[in-house]
Amino acid sequence: MKNDGLMFVISGPSGAGKGTVVKELVKKDNIEVSISATTRQARKGETDGVHYHFLTKEQFQKMIDENGFLEYAQYCDNFYGSPRKQAEEWTKQGKDVIFEIEVQGCEQIKKNNPDCVTIFIMPPSMEVLEKRLRGRGTETDEEVIQKRLARAKEEILKAPEYDYIVINGPLEECVDDVLSIINAEKLKSKRFRF
Ligand code: 5GP
Repeated sequence: MKNDGLMFVISGPSGAGKGTVVKELVKKDNIEVSISATTRQARKGETDGVHYHFLTKEQFQKMIDENGFLEYAQYCDNFYGSPRKQAEEWTKQGKDVIFEIEVQGCEQIKKNNPDCVTIFIMPPSMEVLEKRLRGRGTETDEEVIQKRLARAKEEILKAPEYDYIVINGPLEECVDDVLSIINAEKLKSKRFRF
């Protein structure tokens, strides 16, 4: 009989490089990535159903009412949530799933799925974080950047609650560290059913 797949939650402040790390991980590991729903506007280059499911506030609320999320949270001025159906199907099929979500969502997933593995991607410093956030050019409004930086400071305070903290200096090293965590977690004796 096949074991259920594992849930890996990856959090870290906006600009820490989570998205890039996840992109590299899926190239190297047979792992699924949960596509979140959000009420935020799509950025240039983002496709509905690929990067996010872009929903109106009403559609998002309807999914909440129908218990359609494993977790959801408000981040800055928008809502974000992990759709329940796809993730549960994957884990039942024995596939491992990554959730790239912020800290409140992580708390909810951990509460309902204590077996999940939580990883915090830490920027090397606040200066590097700000440089990356500005450098990627996805947020151009100064007010939005300031809100994300303020939120980053709050999120970093939650890092000790995670199972693992990985510093995202050189990308290769960070990806290798996360892969080591994933591989070790899969080999834990408690994961095996005899
Ligand atoms: P962004 O707007 O930069 O794409 O995402 C903003 C923040 O929301 C990031 O920290 C991202 O990890 C988080 N996020 C993305 N999807 C979800 C989700 O489904 N649930 C929660 N709780 N956070 C999410």
